[in-house]
Amino acid sequence: MYHHVKKLMYTVNVETPDVRFGNMLLEQFGGANGELAAAMQYTIQGWNCVDDLARRDLLLDIGTEELSHLEVVGALIRLHLKDLKTNREAAEADPLVTIAGGGGVALLNSRGNPWTADYLKITGELDVDLRSNIAAEARAKIVYERLIDHTDDPGTIDTLQFLMTREITHMKAFAAALESIEKPPFSIGRLAPTPVLVDEYFNGSTGDGDEGETDMRGPWSKAYGMHVVESQLTGGAGLSIGKVRGLAGQEERGKQDSTPTTTTAPAREELIGVEGR
Ligand code: MN
Ligand code: MN
Repeated sequence: MYHHVKKLMYTVNVETPDVRFGNMLLEQFGGANGELAAAMQYTIQGWNCVDDLARRDLLLDIGTEELSHLEVVGALIRLHLKDLKTNREAAEADPLVTIAGGGGVALLNSRGNPWTADYLKITGELDVDLRSNIAAEARAKIVYERLIDHTDDPGTIDTLQFLMTREITHMKAFAAALESIEKPPFSIGRLAPTPVLVDEYFNGSTGDGDEGETDMRGPWSKAYGMHVVESQLTGGAGLSIGKVRGLAGQEERGKQDSTPTTTTAPAREELIGVEGR
């Protein structure tokens, strides 16, 4: 059951309306990282979350707050767009909202594209959904930050600062909810990944670039048990364990033909050994 309270979650003041900025704000109303998307994503995830009533409550708490954010953003946009109805020059900043929408807020992004459920990430797997939500909050935060960069209106900045702050609060809550599941971080779903292959970091971009880029290494190629595989694997379409084995065999043949080959990683040698037996 939903209940509406005739108050905004945060008081909205605009001293100097700016229709072009109001148009930009639509990104957080009907855009991909906007408040409606957040409200729908968390609420629908919550309705589907029947096996974990505690985290279902979290999803519904935050989903409901996002709907209140939508109302706040909508109020802020309407204050910025108020000149659209009467001022021709202002109307030209957003003809779609002026002519089709009568100057009110609509479920469009800043370029007039309609909101779509395709924005939502809902997998029905709680830990996977929580990761999507953490990322969604991070995106919403950065969009608010960019909006703040493009206005000087103190009241507008104040409201956007509030909304931006709440996204970090939500990020904390989703992160805590994910951590408290105490699932190993790479244990996703039921099926185990293929051993050996799962630890191979393919060095798929090689050579020296025009801007001085070289072959770089970092924790991404060696953390969590991974190692670099210098690869000739990039020529084919798609990789399967069968393809990996086949190409490993080609590397061996390459050596016999004294064709230059890349270093074969230890794990691959093991794989070839298994094949040979
Ligand atoms: Mn929000
Ligand atoms: Mn949020």
